[in-house]
Amino acid sequence: MSKFKYQNLTGMHDILPTDQVFFKKINKVLEGVSHYYSFDKIETPIVEFAEVFSKAVGTDTDIVGKEMYTFRTKGQDLVCLRPEGTAPVMRSYLEHGMHNLPQPVKLWYVGPFFRYERPQAGRYRQFHQFGFEAVGDKNPSIDSQIIQMSYDVLKELGFKNITIEVNSIGDSECRPYFKKILTSYLKSKKSSLCSDCQRRLKENPLRILDCKEEKCQRVKAGAPQIIDHLCEACHAHFKQVLEFLDELELPYTLNPYLVRGLDYYTKTVFEIIETSETGTSLGTLIGGGRYDNLAKMLGGRDTPGCGSAGGIERIIEVMKAKEEKAGGSKKPEEAKIFLAQLGQMAKMKSMKLFEEFRTAKIPVAESFSKDSLKSQLRAADKMGAKWVLIFGQKEALENFITLRNMETGTKKEITLDKVVEEMKEKLKNNK
Ligand SMILES: [Zn+2]
Ligand SMILES: [Zn+2]
Repeated sequence: MSKFKYQNLTGMHDILPTDQVFFKKINKVLEGVSHYYSFDKIETPIVEFAEVFSKAVGTDTDIVGKEMYTFRTKGQDLVCLRPEGTAPVMRSYLEHGMHNLPQPVKLWYVGPFFRYERPQAGRYRQFHQFGFEAVGDKNPSIDSQIIQMSYDVLKELGFKNITIEVNSIGDSECRPYFKKILTSYLKSKKSSLCSDCQRRLKENPLRILDCKEEKCQRVKAGAPQIIDHLCEACHAHFKQVLEFLDELELPYTLNPYLVRGLDYYTKTVFEIIETSETGTSLGTLIGGGRYDNLAKMLGGRDTPGCGSAGGIERIIEVMKAKEEKAGGSKKPEEAKIFLAQLGQMAKMKSMKLFEEFRTAKIPVAESFSKDSLKSQLRAADKMGAKWVLIFGQKEALENFITLRNMETGTKKEITLDKVVEEMKEKLKNNK
């Protein structure tokens, strides 16, 4: 019998007390941002049926094809250790009939995930991820809210040089045609591709755009762009997402070759990237996108969704490098203010205003995905909001907002640049 040597498995690591402070800090920020945006926590099991991922993520991805910890249980079920978080959340949504709840169902998670990757610095086989998922709503405001929240997490953690890359990868309406054009371009360059990509050419040409090999990057630079081939619906959706991002003044760039390697993505995809002082990319910290086909791929009813996920070890690595001191952030209070909006322009401006309230640490509730004022006021009443800020079409045009006191029924008009200040005063006097 060989002598047992006490050590971790390759790619597994202990989170020692010295690292716990970083986990704690990230958790606090996640709880704060999730609470502010009304995302509720969900925990799914570490072990799932392997099919949850082979159907959703795709068998020809590295994640499922090469890196899954798959095994048979004593009862002969083919199961695996979860390699990612979105498919299990959707599985849970479908299993528990969450379509009966008010939509979108906003969920967040944090926990360990498993991928049998080649061992390399900073890559673990058991790693931790957090994610936000908004399921059941196809409104582009949801996409921008997910991007904003993901960005907020990094900002709250003290990240300064971060940028957002966005793209749209279309849907089942327009992507097949683009795939054809892309394939014929890539076929003409086949000899210049790496061996992995020559194989991908048959299985999934889109993934070639994801390849990090330098020779493939060169081929990519001349490839057709999906953005030029989006169908009307995808184009309109993407245009609105970008308008929201503009309005929120988020620092984004269009990356026409960003695809994200998973089968379930449709329309919007994005990555938040850390950059050096000079602007070169130092790697992705958070990534995500829309997954309107995922529910159907899992055999469920047609359900749109959008989400993001971030790798905690990678974020900690950067935090350590920056020598950020670990500290706490305050848990936000319950919202007494509700922000209601009517019309596209008002919606965009409200999202910006909502963010200003967050920066001022004033809790505000919203329902951006609802279009009717009546249902928004009902939601405000239900949560017991004391004040409702109404942002209608006239208000948006003339840059003011109508404040309604829900207890007395009195109304007041406030110019937009004074709103945050005035509400701050009101909250102070209300205590
Ligand atoms: Zn390649
Ligand atoms: Zn389309």
